[in-house]
Amino acid sequence: MSLTSFTLHGRDGAARTGVISTPRGEIRTPAFMPVGTAATVKAMLPESVRATGADILLGNTYHLMLRPGAERVARLGGLHKFMNWERPILTDSGGFQVMSLSGLRKLTEEGVTFKSHIDGSKHMLSPESSMEIQRLLGSDIVMCFDECPALPADRQRIEQSMRLSMRWAQRSRDAFGDRPGHMLFGIQQGGLEEDLRGESAEALTSIGFDGYAVGGLAVGEGQEAMFQVLDFAPGQLPEDKPRYLMGVGKPDDIVGAVKRGIDMMDCVLPSRSGRTGQAWTRHGMVNIKNARHQDDPRPLDEHCTCPACRSYSRAYLHHVYRAGEMISGMLLTWHNLHYYQELMQGMRDAIAGGRFAAFEAEFHAQRAEGDIPPL
Ligand SMILES: [Zn+2]
Repeated sequence: MSLTSFTLHGRDGAARTGVISTPRGEIRTPAFMPVGTAATVKAMLPESVRATGADILLGNTYHLMLRPGAERVARLGGLHKFMNWERPILTDSGGFQVMSLSGLRKLTEEGVTFKSHIDGSKHMLSPESSMEIQRLLGSDIVMCFDECPALPADRQRIEQSMRLSMRWAQRSRDAFGDRPGHMLFGIQQGGLEEDLRGESAEALTSIGFDGYAVGGLAVGEGQEAMFQVLDFAPGQLPEDKPRYLMGVGKPDDIVGAVKRGIDMMDCVLPSRSGRTGQAWTRHGMVNIKNARHQDDPRPLDEHCTCPACRSYSRAYLHHVYRAGEMISGMLLTWHNLHYYQELMQGMRDAIAGGRFAAFEAEFHAQRAEGDIPPL
C-alpha cells in the first residue's frame, strides 16, 4: 500500500476539494503553502504559521543549497528538524530561481551552471543534482528540475524549452527512484500555447508522477492571460492527482485558479507584503502606513481572529510600521497568512457544499466595497 495518497471529497464545476495524505500529515486542498525561503517563514515562528491553518510549507532548493548547504542540513537531521516544522514540506527544484536570481549562468542539455548571488561561487544544477539536494533536505513533495522562459517569449523558444524540460522530467523521475512516503511532481510547460501545454501534459503523464504542477505562469503574462491558460491546462492533467499552480498569487488570482481546478498554490506575497506595511483583508489591500490610520482605534478587520486584529488597533500597527519596529512585520505577516488560510478554508467549505459560485460572488462584492471609511 502506498504511504501517500490524494482523495477528492467534493467538486463544484471545475473546482475540487480533497486531502493529500503523507506520513507527516494531511494537506487539505485547495491548499495555500506559505514560503519558507531560507528555512523560515520570515517574521513567524513555525507554531504561529501552523496556527494560521497552514498544512504545508514551501522551501527553496536554490537558497538552501547555497546557504546553509544541503549536506549540512542533512547532517543536522533534515530540514523539518532543522527549522522545527514537522509537517509536510514541498521544495522547488531550484531551476526557477537560478534563472531569476543568479548571475552568470550557462544552460546546456546536462543542466545549468551558475554563480551564487551570495558570494559568486560556481555551482551546477541538473535533474540528478536537484533530486539529490531535495533528498538531502528531506522534502516530502519534490519538484522535477525544469527550465522556464520569462514571458513574453516566442513560440520556438517556448517549444524548445518545454521539450528540454520534458527530457529533464524523465531524468528527474529516474534519479528520484522509489522513495515510499515521498512524492515527485512533474511540471507542465508550454507558455500560453494550448497545443504545447497538451504535448507537455502527455509527456509527463506517460512518465507518471504523484502530482502535476502548472509551471511557467505568473512570470509576467498578467491575470487575464493566466486565466486563459487555466481554462484548459488543468483539464489536460490527470484528474486523480493534485494540480499545483506555482508562485500564485494575489487573493483574486487564487480564487480564480481554484475555480479552474487548481489544488495547491504558493506565494511570498502574504509574508512579503506584511513586511512592507500592506495588509490583505476581505475588503482588499490596506496600506497601514497611510496617515488615515494614525488615530484609528479600530482593528484592521473586526471579523478577523488573528492576534493583530484581536489585540491591536490600526493606530498601533501604523505607529510600529512608521517606527520601524520588528513587531510590525510580525503582526502584519501573521494577519496576512491568517487571511489567506481563511480564504482557503472558505473555498474548501464552499466547494464541499456546492456553493462556490456564491462564495466567489461574495468575495468580489466585499472587495468592491473597499476598506472601511476613515473615522
Ligand atoms: Zn487579522
